[in-house]
Amino acid sequence: MASSPSRSTRTASEHSSGFGSTAPDTPHALDCLVIGAGPAGVGTALALAAVKQLSFGVLERGQVGQTFLDWVPEQTFLTPSFTGNGFGATDLNAVHYETSPAFSLGVDYPTGAEYAKYLRSVVAHFRVPVLDGTEVTSVTRHGDGFRVLSARGPAFARSLVWAGGEFGQPLAPRISGGALVAHSSARKAWETRDGDVVVIGGYESGIDIACHHVEHGSRVTVVDAQSPWESGRGSDPSYRLAPRSRILLQQALASGRLTLVKDRAVGVKRTDSGFATRLNSGETIRSSTMPIAATGFGSGLGPVEHLFSTREDGWPELDEDDQSTIAPGLFLSGPAIRHGGLKFCFVYKFRQRFAHIARVIGERAGKDTSALEAWRSAGMLTDDLSCCDVQCGC
Ligand SMILES: Cc1cc2nc3c(=O)[nH]c(=O)nc-3n(C[C@H](O)[C@H](O)[C@H](O)COP(=O)(O)OP(=O)(O)OC[C@H]3O[C@@H](n4cnc5c(N)ncnc54)[C@H](O)[C@@H]3O)c2cc1C
Repeated sequence: MASSPSRSTRTASEHSSGFGSTAPDTPHALDCLVIGAGPAGVGTALALAAVKQLSFGVLERGQVGQTFLDWVPEQTFLTPSFTGNGFGATDLNAVHYETSPAFSLGVDYPTGAEYAKYLRSVVAHFRVPVLDGTEVTSVTRHGDGFRVLSARGPAFARSLVWAGGEFGQPLAPRISGGALVAHSSARKAWETRDGDVVVIGGYESGIDIACHHVEHGSRVTVVDAQSPWESGRGSDPSYRLAPRSRILLQQALASGRLTLVKDRAVGVKRTDSGFATRLNSGETIRSSTMPIAATGFGSGLGPVEHLFSTREDGWPELDEDDQSTIAPGLFLSGPAIRHGGLKFCFVYKFRQRFAHIARVIGERAGKDTSALEAWRSAGMLTDDLSCCDVQCGC
């Protein structure tokens, strides 16, 4: 499809069908297919483009940045964007070292719609071959490669990158009455409420939505047995609230309308006047509106779930190259990457693996991957994961 970085690169939409539609044992199958055009898929495709003469393409079920288009308008990034690229500090939310959302959008905490606009501009600027409106419904092994099925028909590739994100798999709390809650990613959870609000889960999304409802005049109780609003573990933002969230939290607490409860919700039931959330301590919190579950997302592997083995904690088992341990040639890009206790759940973390994945795929295809060293020079390539576990001294 696209042979990079040559000028002959074409966009996938120029191929409304036939995207790698030849079996992998023929010369016409793609070297690599990427599924999903969020930051992980677009960023991985940009790294693949640096591999000489590698054929690849991206399939996207909606539009580029679809997940961000689905965010409620009140939601914004919590990692700030700033154009430090020229001094080796690439914008934290950038997917390529020559780009910066702060520069192109003129904001530091983009909304979902703004970030989708940034991703679209990156795709257009670098001519990333994305075929949108193409949902992958099934993936099976085919010889040494993969057969990928969508409504457009089958496509074949020697390597596959799953970059489908987590947003499609919101996790309900595992409690009795778990179906009686609204997930924090749903629009109805953000609608202004007249009565008291209960939020189950007190990490980033729980504090975010709690502060939103406090700001709109509600009395809110947040319940979490781990009390993530306390100091947290170490300096990794995957384990402690971001500074901006702490500031919002202090403002909400100062209003007198926010209560934080260190306890575990064990059940939700309907009552005559609304809902009752039972806690492990035996206490019950009543609310006139449906409790909100800020309980995060699953790994969202969709049609490739059967091609990954699972760790004890439920996340996909990966080898040191972010490749499935049971389906060689299948890679994971995005926030579901886990290595030991390391979580790659922010853009600035999982982008460190785009160029690494691209190099492994390029070498597998016998191509020249030397241009990927530019990603390392820009601070966007980590292949030694022991470097990631550094704690700040002060
Ligand atoms: C409110 C909120 C605030 C956040 N703030 C930050 C932040 O400040 N900083 C940060 O780094 N991260 C933040 N995150 C997390 C960040 O949004 C995710 O880590 C990021 O979206 C993951 O990127 P991705 O490309 O893996 O997945 P996504 O952005 O979800 O992209 C996946 C794409 O794959 C497509 N897709 C899925 N299944 C298929 C299929 N079967 N076939 C074809 N296409 C498919 C989807 O349509 C989608 O476009 C935030 C998340 C939320 C919800």
